[in-house]
Amino acid sequence: MMRRSHVLLLILISLLFLSISPPWEAEAWGKEGHFMVCKIAEGYLTERTSAAVADLLPASANGDLAAVCSWADEIRFHYRWSSPLHYINTPGVCTYKYSRDCHNSKGVVDMCVVGAINNYTEQLYSYGDSTSSYNLTESLMFLAHFVGDVHQPLHVGFEADEGGNTIIVHWYRRKTNLHHVWDVSIIETAMRDFYGDNLTTMIDGIKMNITNGWSHDVDHWENCPNKRATCANSYALESIHLSCNYAYKDVEQDSTLGDEYFFSRYPVVEKRIAQAGIRLALILNRIFDGSSSDDGKVLVQ
Ligand SMILES: [Zn+2]
Repeated sequence: MMRRSHVLLLILISLLFLSISPPWEAEAWGKEGHFMVCKIAEGYLTERTSAAVADLLPASANGDLAAVCSWADEIRFHYRWSSPLHYINTPGVCTYKYSRDCHNSKGVVDMCVVGAINNYTEQLYSYGDSTSSYNLTESLMFLAHFVGDVHQPLHVGFEADEGGNTIIVHWYRRKTNLHHVWDVSIIETAMRDFYGDNLTTMIDGIKMNITNGWSHDVDHWENCPNKRATCANSYALESIHLSCNYAYKDVEQDSTLGDEYFFSRYPVVEKRIAQAGIRLALILNRIFDGSSSDDGKVLVQ
């Protein structure tokens, strides 16, 4: 039997670990966010697109795109070059310019989330071409992840605070940072308060909003006259605007964020997840089913 002092020590150690966010949580919608984006996208893929996606998925995915939507986060410390592909930093301004902001810390251009979305989209257009030397399985997993990331507002944030990572806040009574609040905490609190702590129920709720509440907006979300390239540039611009108007707004070092912040921000998070899902489907349908009569547009009935 364990001695009581040992049990206490174990509890203390676990509490310590719980209160420190592990580094891999610091840079993306959490697993739940990415899973929801891909689940929503899956529902809007055409038959031909679904078949191509299933063909490219690794065996470990069991035919489910959502199962590998966090893969890019899992390998980011192994593929170190891929780390800057998850976000964009602006020089402390509420605008974003590809030419100014899309580069890694060494100044290599195109090394940001928008550059990555465009690059992996272009690679995937070589699907079916036997001379293609790309690993299209990885291209698909990267693309599905980065379309999610570019919609998380603080993935297009200020360089000085690393997209809110260095802004320490209290989420209700728990110490965390602002970036983590937007990756994980808002989603967790919404899931617990509104959806019985059940991810599937939350996804169904968001899907219902797409077909009911937002049905008139979806056409606008899908509006992307850029036939072959993506509209990731516009999605990044939306994100920096949302960062300034919602994420950073009224927040300082050591702020306590509670009901007022949560209730005014969670609708933004749910809408961004919905937009990311619809737009991921749009991009994939254009790549794999460009001949579909609606020009790859997702139809919402
Ligand atoms: Zn990411």
